[in-house]
Amino acid sequence: MTQDLKIWIDGQLYSKDQAKISVFDHGVLYGDGVFEGIRVYDGCIFRLREHLERLWSSAHYLKLEIPMSYDGMVAALRETVRANGLKNGYIRLVVTRGIGDLGLDPRLCPRPTVFIIAAGIKMYPESDYENGLEVITVPTNRINLSAFNARVKSCNYINNIMAKMEGQLANVREAIMLNQDGFVVECTGDNVFIVKKGVLYTPPIYLGPLRGVTRDAIIELAQADGMTVKEEPFTRFEVYDADEMFLTGTAAEAIPVVKVDGRLIGKGTPGEITKKLIAKFREIVSKDGVMVD
Ligand code: PMP
Repeated sequence: MTQDLKIWIDGQLYSKDQAKISVFDHGVLYGDGVFEGIRVYDGCIFRLREHLERLWSSAHYLKLEIPMSYDGMVAALRETVRANGLKNGYIRLVVTRGIGDLGLDPRLCPRPTVFIIAAGIKMYPESDYENGLEVITVPTNRINLSAFNARVKSCNYINNIMAKMEGQLANVREAIMLNQDGFVVECTGDNVFIVKKGVLYTPPIYLGPLRGVTRDAIIELAQADGMTVKEEPFTRFEVYDADEMFLTGTAAEAIPVVKVDGRLIGKGTPGEITKKLIAKFREIVSKDGVMVD
């Protein structure tokens, strides 16, 4: 599939080799843009409305006007998925500020660039889902809310990349980022959940994690199952003291965590509630979206 990838750029499909954007695009020069990562399951785009609403909200915060209607965007996504014959995979949708000058000034970028890649994805090996991930908390804090609100899924991921590298230096695949007060915010590309005495906890949005589409789906599934879900701040203390832990994200789906900073979480194996929620999530993925064809 990779050889004949078709990439959608501003209304046209290009082969992988021909799919290029300008070096003067402010997405490249400054990370000025927004994006979404979206899954396709069994020919169905999972929670497309939620992803597109987040994209539009992120763009709005940056005063970036997406040069397409909502319906036009849905059509472009479906066209790209169809052109790639993708039944199961991952869509990367990017809207940058567009081509401009060498200066920061966004007003000199007359038209945002939109591109869509639909391809396969494998985030973690299957063994990590069975045995659980090991993660660490890293020195790089999640960016301060007063500097930039990380609810915006922007093209500027350098804060997350720093944390990711710190995790990699410690031989783990994901890293927990705290805020300046020591509260857990999120991982570099995933939201965080812990379970204590049957209650599910996740950091509240006002603390600055991305409002994950997977996070919201898990909260709904847990509540529908009668669980208490608390969106409240917690620190490393509560993480080390948790009975269970897992991460959620479009690419990762829901994945158990069994070790944090070298300490076992609970019994050091994926917890029962975690396993139940992962199974429930897998049940809804192809039923909760927009058909491509
Ligand atoms: N936090 C960050 C920083 C992310 O980049 C992502 C998406 N990869 C998430 C959380 C999870 O969000 P979603 O479930 O919408 O993919």
